[in-house]
Amino acid sequence: MHGNEVVGREILIFFMQYLCQQYQQKNPRILQLVHSTRIHLLPSMNPDGYEMAHQLGSELSGWATGRYNLQGFDLNHNFADLNTIMWDAEEIPGDPTLIQNHFIPMPAYYKWPNASVGPETRAVIGWMKKIPFVLSANFHGGDMVVCYPFDMARPTWLHRQITPTADNDVFRWLSAVYASSHRAMAQYNRRICHGDNFMQHRNIINGADWHSVPGSMNDFSYLHTNCFEITVELSCDKYPHQSELPTEWENNKESLLIYMEQVHRGIKGVVRDRDDNGISGAIIAVDGINHDIRTAVDGDYWRLLNPGDYKVTAKAEGFLPVTRNCRVRFDGHPTICDFVLMRRSQSDRENDPLSKRRRVPKHRARG
Ligand SMILES: [Zn+2]
Repeated sequence: MHGNEVVGREILIFFMQYLCQQYQQKNPRILQLVHSTRIHLLPSMNPDGYEMAHQLGSELSGWATGRYNLQGFDLNHNFADLNTIMWDAEEIPGDPTLIQNHFIPMPAYYKWPNASVGPETRAVIGWMKKIPFVLSANFHGGDMVVCYPFDMARPTWLHRQITPTADNDVFRWLSAVYASSHRAMAQYNRRICHGDNFMQHRNIINGADWHSVPGSMNDFSYLHTNCFEITVELSCDKYPHQSELPTEWENNKESLLIYMEQVHRGIKGVVRDRDDNGISGAIIAVDGINHDIRTAVDGDYWRLLNPGDYKVTAKAEGFLPVTRNCRVRFDGHPTICDFVLMRRSQSDRENDPLSKRRRVPKHRARG
């Protein structure tokens, strides 16, 4: 994401080559992954920043050169701050269960042509909206730790504060999977990079508890899309020498694979009407987790969950909601939880709670 933090782009290029080679050699694990998973890899989100850092080279580029895009934006502060919008709505007295807890709309200022938004950020947001992503990671360098959202502290003026999402347990699991399988990060006697001893937290941390970042990609993904995303700080050195890159790849190989495999942890299925048509935009709500997700265009959905028993409700405007129990097992395969919804009658429609759901006000965003 930051142009001068080069390890992420290099390990993804290694990873692409590895996937293709192993697929051709019929490695069963890779065949299983590729056949069951839609994979997108973006080696560089800030190519202009990389060019700037590259001109100086690995020894001289330093902390900041190439971090920002050509216009000077730090891309990990450049996404719309939806946290403030949601938290402000929660401050208004009323039934908290009626506050929209997902798919928070973009604030109006963000769409203005002269808004301080990088073309890279806009391109990535367009990409996030086009494809129903489920799981993601964005790569950085300069330390060794895995951060999970929220990245922004609540209250928003605090420099650091533990600020968990409603899916904190899943995020901690996802982060631990990456951190504990990273060959260098997981070494119990590894050196501390720059003062923060993340080993005492097993190399995972809530982003806001490290340093509060408004407008991060992780927070935006969680609040505007169905996607769960974490940040991985890959190495102490942002721009190591070329000779170190094969080792960096080996350090991350298992982590990348096992992290991707986590996308199959939880439940998935299709929400249909009685005529077998998929219902797009149907809400999937899990009892006890105040964060819903929505079905994609064909009515299909994926909901990451840790193993356990869950009460899951599917609801859509104009239909009667349906609740069923879904059990997530330990075996790495998602549980299929399909739903069939019946249309509401006229009298049902007048009592539809979805039509009463409080929308978060769009104008309350901070610039
Ligand atoms: Zn970074």
